[in-house]
Amino acid sequence: MSIAAPATPRVLDGTAIAAEIKSELVSKVAEAKHRGYTPGLAVILVGENPASQLYVKSKVKTCAELGIYSEMHTPHESVTTDQLLALVQSLNERNEIDGILIQLPLPAHVDTELLLEAVIPEKDVDGFHPINAGRLLSGAPAEKVLAPCTPAGIMEMLHRSNIPISGQRAVVIGRSNIVGKPIAAMLINASATVTVCHSRTRNLPEIVREADIVVAAIGRPGFVTPDMVRPGAVLVDVGINRITDPAEFNRFFANNASRQESFAKRGSTVVGDIDPAAFTTSSAYTPVPGGVGALTIAMLMSNTVKAAAMRRL
Ligand code: NAP
Repeated sequence: MSIAAPATPRVLDGTAIAAEIKSELVSKVAEAKHRGYTPGLAVILVGENPASQLYVKSKVKTCAELGIYSEMHTPHESVTTDQLLALVQSLNERNEIDGILIQLPLPAHVDTELLLEAVIPEKDVDGFHPINAGRLLSGAPAEKVLAPCTPAGIMEMLHRSNIPISGQRAVVIGRSNIVGKPIAAMLINASATVTVCHSRTRNLPEIVREADIVVAAIGRPGFVTPDMVRPGAVLVDVGINRITDPAEFNRFFANNASRQESFAKRGSTVVGDIDPAAFTTSSAYTPVPGGVGALTIAMLMSNTVKAAAMRRL
């Protein structure tokens, strides 16, 4: 059965759901401490990429807010793969470290794949290790898998918002290892009928029009236009695209006074992969910003607490 379109679409508020998840984690961390351990996260940040520095800073800050132990390792840009492997190895061996996060991208001379696979699966809180990807694909129960944070956040958001998934037709646009493929696996595990589209897909708009749930993870501003959306569909917008061109800005936000004010001040704004004009046709949608993006750090924290508990079973 398909979802009927209500007059006013529901906003799936990622910021509010992230706050809910974090407050539950505070209790879980307190419980862990009561049992004699503190969940711990080690973050490796190579070089001085300002965007990466910002992400890492907010991850470390969130750890502190929730009572999770964290430590940062900041090797110089010139660090070798071998030196990084030795660092990962030492973190793998330390009992007080439950999660190891390697902030991407790494410098071009570093073997990223080798490094991600060097993190033991039990501490792979990013969910990028092939063992964890395999467990996800094989349908292991969600509470026993360390799954990638962004798709895990999408599932939390859908579940907590009581969006029906079982039997629904879901279309995922994008097939990356960090979003498209894992969210497709999670939706299949939740009994949706899933189609994955990508840059070689023929008749993409027609396929998207059949969806009860659309997940757009493409990296192209406003790619999903209103004519591609079936009335009443649920729209999940993963895209985070910074736009600076006034003409492009006006395409999306000509009638949005608050966005216009902030665009005039900053000279840029963010738009997702779904044209905001399509939201009005939906039954529910995730805004950008304040939707899916708001959940990613909360899910990293959740994975760290989960990894700590699973290692001590
Ligand atoms: P990605 O690795 O660049 O993958 C993009 C996918 O979109 C690819 O599978 C590509 O197809 C597909 N694609 C590109 N152009 C297309 C087109 N014209 N028609 C159909 N498919 C097309 O991107 P990603 O890492 O998954 O990220 C996607 C977006 O999500 C980005 O905006 C990123 O910033 C955002 N993101 C947000 C979060 C968060 O909220 N925390 C986390 C991760 C990513 P091919 O495979 O055929 O090339």
